[in-house]
Amino acid sequence: MSGPARPTPTGRGDASGPAPSAAEAAVEVARGIGVKFHRNESLAPHTTMRVGGPADIFVEAKDVATMTALMRAARAAGVPVTVLGRGSNVIVADAGIRGLVVLSRAEGCRIEGDRLIAEAGLPLAKAATQAQRAGLSGLEFGLAIPGTVGGAIWGNAGAHGSDIASVLESVTVLRVDGAEATEPASALALKYRDSRIKGTAGRSAGDLILTATFRLNLAHPGAVKARLDEILRWRQEHQPLNKPSAGSVFRNPPGDSAGRLIDECGLKGTRVGGAAISDKHANFIVNEGRATASEIRRLGDMAREAVRTRFGVDLEYEIRFIGDWPELP
Ligand SMILES: Cc1cc2nc3c(=O)[nH]c(=O)nc-3n(C[C@H](O)[C@H](O)[C@H](O)COP(=O)(O)OP(=O)(O)OC[C@H]3O[C@@H](n4cnc5c(N)ncnc54)[C@H](O)[C@@H]3O)c2cc1C
Repeated sequence: MSGPARPTPTGRGDASGPAPSAAEAAVEVARGIGVKFHRNESLAPHTTMRVGGPADIFVEAKDVATMTALMRAARAAGVPVTVLGRGSNVIVADAGIRGLVVLSRAEGCRIEGDRLIAEAGLPLAKAATQAQRAGLSGLEFGLAIPGTVGGAIWGNAGAHGSDIASVLESVTVLRVDGAEATEPASALALKYRDSRIKGTAGRSAGDLILTATFRLNLAHPGAVKARLDEILRWRQEHQPLNKPSAGSVFRNPPGDSAGRLIDECGLKGTRVGGAAISDKHANFIVNEGRATASEIRRLGDMAREAVRTRFGVDLEYEIRFIGDWPELP
């Protein structure tokens, strides 16, 4: 008769026992690095849409060294790992995310001449105001994008006639094999809301952005401030900033606007549960208070179907659905 499994130094039981769950393997990773971790952390407060279930194991990486160590260890151990910036372009599944979720919070920033060098967790809006104070122009569009530098590069975020591709000079990335590399922006294949890193980022298969260098233009701080104020005013007038959202739901189809197509279908104000198509901007789905992630997805699919039927246009989601989505193919 065999006795109970003898605990190993990792506390997981001996080699003949069951393989550890993704959660237990993630705990091992966090303990190995010595970072504080939380079990079953609700992810809704860590996203701008304010929906989504828990992360098995949740940690905050407050510096680049911690982020690097966590990613290397998680990948080496085969633990599924998801990186979250400000959660402003994602809808986390109601069932949450298995394995390790790492919040990107390395927010260092310095100015060198006409360059701004930022860690990936720096909010883009902070990068915009730091640049303004230093008398540098070019990042103003970032003021109204509520994401991090890393998340913005991932999707080549842009607005007000500019985008990341217009100002990014180079990045340091952590490659899948654990090596760090500095790459020119031209190596990232930045195009409309897209990059080489998108598609695999946030999973153990993708490169992770660690730092970014932006090349800006010398300008009078007062002139840059005036542009920032103008951008804020425009946003307040045109976007439903008083309700949780994830920004534009769909990419604009070539030569058209997703918002116009959805509006023409008469869908402004349409609801599924607590999710609604904004009255102010038809390409925004807002959380009216108690929406679930699956209600947001159902409403998005309904809008997509309506546009396909009426205009024969296939809208493509700009927001990303991450985590356990059993209802999705
Ligand atoms: C009110 C509102 C307005 C918006 N307006 C705009 C706009 O005008 N233009 C625009 O482009 N977007 C806009 N957005 C969308 C969103 O803010 C941007 O896409 C933003 O860049 C996402 O950054 P994030 O840090 O929140 O990324 P998250 O949503 O946290 O993550 C998005 C993806 O990036 C990956 N990622 C995050 N950090 C890294 C990293 N360091 N390395 C590799 N991958 C990483 C994540 O794993 C995930 O796959 C808006 C959103 C809201 C809520």
